[in-house]
Amino acid sequence: MEYISQIAFLLVVGFFGFLLFKRITQIKKNILLGRDVDRTDQSGERWKTMLLVAFGQKKMFKRIIPAVLHMFIYVGFIVINLEVLEFLIDGVAGTHRIFAPILGGFYPVLMGMFEFLAVLVLFSCVAFLIRRNVIKVPRFTKPEMKGWPAMDGNLILVIEIVLMFAILTMNATDQVLQAKGDPHYVQTGAFFFSSFLVPIFEGMSNGALVILERSAWWFHMVGILAFAVYVTYSKHLHIFLAFPNTYYSNLNAKGYMDNMDTVTNEVKMMLGMPTESTEPPAEIGRFGAKDVNDLTWKNIMESYSCTECGRCTSECPANHTGKKLSPRKIMMDTRDRAEEVGASIAKGGKGLEDGKTLLGDYITKEEINACTSCNACVEACPVNINPLDIILQMRRFVAMEESGSPASWNSMFSNVETNFAPWKFSPADRFNWSQELKEESNKA
Ligand code: SF4
Ligand code: SF4
Repeated sequence: MEYISQIAFLLVVGFFGFLLFKRITQIKKNILLGRDVDRTDQSGERWKTMLLVAFGQKKMFKRIIPAVLHMFIYVGFIVINLEVLEFLIDGVAGTHRIFAPILGGFYPVLMGMFEFLAVLVLFSCVAFLIRRNVIKVPRFTKPEMKGWPAMDGNLILVIEIVLMFAILTMNATDQVLQAKGDPHYVQTGAFFFSSFLVPIFEGMSNGALVILERSAWWFHMVGILAFAVYVTYSKHLHIFLAFPNTYYSNLNAKGYMDNMDTVTNEVKMMLGMPTESTEPPAEIGRFGAKDVNDLTWKNIMESYSCTECGRCTSECPANHTGKKLSPRKIMMDTRDRAEEVGASIAKGGKGLEDGKTLLGDYITKEEINACTSCNACVEACPVNINPLDIILQMRRFVAMEESGSPASWNSMFSNVETNFAPWKFSPADRFNWSQELKEESNKA
């Protein structure tokens, strides 16, 4: 009986650890459905990008109010979770606040700091809930945010609020038990913020206080473990994936578009220019992208890193002018399709051969054709996601594999092919107007 709490603790940690491991393995497999792309060059630049964009949240600060609120939650999440180390040791060893005697007078200062952050997190979560549900910030009310995405955004904020209250309740009841001289509750000194809650619990019996304190402790611990599993099904996976995602950022200039090697070689051969290889590739594969396996692993990783913040969509000129395109939806659809294919493969189903494709069943031609390739979404994204890259790959598929581009585009393609310019006349004729001007001025 003596060790029952420790055994229960180990079972709970093992259970959630197993779920987490299984889910991480599945996400990794889903990301690797994509084709290979090398993002291992310029490691110095990559570390710098990751530190500035993910760790320093550089791009978040373009909008100061959400940036500050998000920073409170982010710092709170990292720092408060240091306390989990003590939870883990206490849970396994059957001790209570094991660091208190070691840290002495610094312990209540540290706890005060954790509580201060917990209060900031509480404040920020409430502010975010108001922005989403009362003020209804337009980027959170777009069509792709109906249903589960809206629920996910709210749910996580409510969970954070409840977890923060659990910490404050645990600390307040602990202080009352210390004051009553319960031998299990080591004397730590007062914790600043939870002291304000102490009067609520002072009249309670020792038994009730112990139940309340232990419940808050277990609730917080189980809550954190369940939260860790939950985020892997949620947009909050960006908490972890923002780091690798920014490390493997596309470091090319924003307007740069990758050429397709097979096409480049073909064109060079036609023009009699030297090519990198004289041998035709063994297998050309599909031009452009129709499904997730045609995209790169980085495209799929980006879809899992998307925070669904909608900054991309709120900057998108196509979306602003009432077109169906939303770059956020492109990323959400990519993740949903990768999830669908991955889950099907895991169950021994048809996987990619299920009769569905990303282009067609999730993303329509109307959406991808509305893109102006302006890169505003790429610039706006706080975690360096590139929805345009997916759109371009799909447009390549439609143009090259289906000849399905709009008729006006097809005449532009022929003009480029024959005139090396998008117009019907050759570039040499472009300045004819100046000739006419010259003749008119001569006559005058
Ligand atoms: S690149 Fe396309 S999707 Fe991105 S903001 Fe511009 S128009 Fe919208
Ligand atoms: S792609 Fe980037 S900007 Fe757009 S919703 Fe996702 S995280 Fe936000």
